[in-house]
Amino acid sequence: MSHPLNLDAWRQEIREFLAAELPPEHAFNTEFDDAPDQWRIAVEFSRKVAAQGWIGLTWPTEYGGGGRPISELLVLLEEFAAADAPMVNSVGVFLVAGTLLVGGTEEQKHRLLPEISQMTTLWAEGLTEPEAGSDLGSLRTTAVREGEGWVIDGQKAYTSWGPMSDMLFVAARTASDPSPSGSISIFCVDLKAEGVTLHPMRNFGGGIQSTTYLDHVRVGPEALIGEVGKGWGYIMKAFYASGGVEPIYAQQEARLRRLVSHCRTTRGPQGLLIEQTRVIDGLAELARMVQGQRLLAYEHIGNTMAGRMTPYEGGVLPVLAKEWEPLFAQVFDEVLGQSSQLTAGTEHAPLGGAPEAWYRQSFANHAGGTPQVKRMVLATRGLGLPR
Ligand SMILES: Cc1cc2nc3c(=O)[nH]c(=O)nc-3n(C[C@H](O)[C@H](O)[C@H](O)COP(=O)(O)OP(=O)(O)OC[C@H]3O[C@@H](n4cnc5c(N)ncnc54)[C@H](O)[C@@H]3O)c2cc1C
Repeated sequence: MSHPLNLDAWRQEIREFLAAELPPEHAFNTEFDDAPDQWRIAVEFSRKVAAQGWIGLTWPTEYGGGGRPISELLVLLEEFAAADAPMVNSVGVFLVAGTLLVGGTEEQKHRLLPEISQMTTLWAEGLTEPEAGSDLGSLRTTAVREGEGWVIDGQKAYTSWGPMSDMLFVAARTASDPSPSGSISIFCVDLKAEGVTLHPMRNFGGGIQSTTYLDHVRVGPEALIGEVGKGWGYIMKAFYASGGVEPIYAQQEARLRRLVSHCRTTRGPQGLLIEQTRVIDGLAELARMVQGQRLLAYEHIGNTMAGRMTPYEGGVLPVLAKEWEPLFAQVFDEVLGQSSQLTAGTEHAPLGGAPEAWYRQSFANHAGGTPQVKRMVLATRGLGLPR
């Protein structure tokens, strides 16, 4: 892997790779599409990305990472989002890798991180439970020592990519103390292990989240990541440890460009869409949302690289990104008018019917924490307010 001289050269290298390797059937959203053929294409493409050395770009090189700065990861993710390039294993690449980097043993880092950077092991996330979503610290799944290993019992909810993954990242109670710090541990569970059952559930955005039952699942001592009882601290730090950027605005900007082209060439009852005040207002509003998020992302990356952490550091963008996701889809559809509700395959559906699906998917913004919870984090960590 060559080391680009600057971010423009790096961006160009990524664009050339995408132009050469992105399959024509690439309009695949790994979160919401689950057709087996499309998933296979997405996995094959993701393995080509891995062969470039681009998975784990910022991790230390001794664990199979690229040792590159976070600014380069942001550019990579921006280009992939703008091109709608499918990437599988985001749980492995961010949550699992971040946890390993924060708390894994040397043996675990050397064994598990290369499997992720080479895309040979795909991971699903087993954090949420029926009674523990936003209040994750109240989770009830237990892991009890048995000889050298552990026995895990419990139920997880909303497991994305469960049927397509190899391993489940499980948070379980290893002590009865109600406080999460000290009583939660993280385990790696083979999804084919005896006692693991997945019950797939469709969400309205498309795609599947499973309910996962863990019924007396036996794991060996190597399945425990890091130390007993330290899991809460690991997962709180994991996202940032693995890179911690998610430029959703780049995908929105690509969609906005398509919308602008559509409005330039499409007539409504009052003439060309692009000449109408309500359309111009809507397009400007969408551009404002894109640019606002981009500037916050760049500020955050700049501050992180300079070690200049503000009290709100990293807290504002997640709130805006989460809150603006459905708002962006709503304004987008208002610009298009009622035809935005026509589904793919319907005559006259604008932009191939994609906006109808984008609207539904924009409300599935609970994963990784709801907008309200992100606000609470901003208030408590950023402003020091009481919970
Ligand atoms: C598409 C999708 C994929 C997901 N994938 C996974 C996955 O792979 N693995 C996994 O473990 N989980 C996954 N989740 C679960 C996700 O992390 C949870 O949905 C999320 O943490 C919220 O939990 P909950 O659904 O139980 O809602 P609840 O916590 O019950 O919240 C319900 C509502 O109350 C609000 N609320 C709760 N507490 C507060 C508070 N203190 N202050 C203000 N408002 C509050 C919330 O914002 C929300 O609007 C996924 C969810 C979705 C939608």
